[in-house]
Amino acid sequence: MKIALFYKENKIESSYIEDLTEKLSSCGFVLNNDNPEVVLYVGGDGTFLRAVHKYLKKIDNLVFVGLKKGHLGFFTSYNENEIDQLLSDLKSKNIDCKSYRLLKASFADSELYAVNEIRIENPFQTLISEVEINGSRLETFRGNGLTVSSALGSSAYNRSLGGAIVSTDLDVLELTEIAPINNRVFRSLHSPLVLSSDSTIVLKPKTKNVLVGYDHLTKEDENSSVIKFELSDKKVSILRKKDFDYISHLNKTFIEEE
Ligand code: NAP
Repeated sequence: MKIALFYKENKIESSYIEDLTEKLSSCGFVLNNDNPEVVLYVGGDGTFLRAVHKYLKKIDNLVFVGLKKGHLGFFTSYNENEIDQLLSDLKSKNIDCKSYRLLKASFADSELYAVNEIRIENPFQTLISEVEINGSRLETFRGNGLTVSSALGSSAYNRSLGGAIVSTDLDVLELTEIAPINNRVFRSLHSPLVLSSDSTIVLKPKTKNVLVGYDHLTKEDENSSVIKFELSDKKVSILRKKDFDYISHLNKTFIEEE
C-alpha cells in the first residue's frame, strides 16, 4: 500500500516522524508522497485541511487517516501513541471508511472546494448581500459575513457563530450569519438555517472587496456578483477506528479531557 506522510515540519519532532517511517516500512507500506493510496497526516484538523487541499485533484482515489498530535483533532480517531494499532488496522483492513461530500462555491470564472465551510466576509465595512435559496429570495443580508458549512464543518467556525453541530451522518448545508445587523430598519433571518443536500444557496454581494474564506484558505473577490454554494460530487474519505462513536467523540472533543 502506498502511503503519503503529511505533517507541519516545524510542529512535529523529527524523532516521531523517524519512528513512524521505520514502522511503516517494517510493516510493508511504501512511502509515496506523489501518488499515494492513503494520506497519513500527523497533527490536528488544521493539518487534515491542508492535506485535503494538497491532494484535492486526486481526492476521489484517496483515503485520509490521522494520528492526532498536539491539537484538538476532531477528524482523527487515533492518538499519537497509537501508531502500532493504526498500522495493524490498516494492514488487516480492520478500519472503517466514510466518505463526505465537499462543499463547492462557483464564481463567474472559477470554482473552489472546502471540507468545513466557505464564507464571504468583510470585517471593515458592512457587507450587503442578497441571499437566494433554491431560486427563491430569502433576504438582503447586512453584517460582517455569511458562512456555508458542511456537517463535517458544523463543529468548527459554524459552531463559534452559534450554528448547530450537525451529525456527520447527515448530508446538509448550514447557512450562518457573522455579526448581522438587525434593527428596525434592517432585517435578516438571524438564525442558522440547515438545508437538505440538494439545496443551492446563491449570494449576490452588493459590496466590493469581498473576502472569500474556505477552510484555512482565502481568496479576494472583487468581481463576482453571483456566488453559488452547493454540495459537490467530490468526496473526502476518512478512515477511523471500527469502534468510533460520534457522540463519545463529541464528548471527548468538546467536553471532557481524554
Ligand atoms: P486554526 O486556528 O488552527 O483552527 C481553529 C480551530 O478549529 C482548531 O482548534 C482546529 O482544530 C479546529 N477545527 C478545524 N476544523 C474543525 C472541525 N471540523 N470541527 C471541530 N474543530 C475544528 O485554523 P486553521 O488550521 O487555519 O483551520 C481553519 C478552520 O478554522 C476553518 O475551516 C474554520 O472552521 C476554523 N476557524 C474557526 C474560527 C472560529 O471558531 N472563530 C475562526 C476562523 C477559522 P486543530 O487544533 O485540531 O487544528
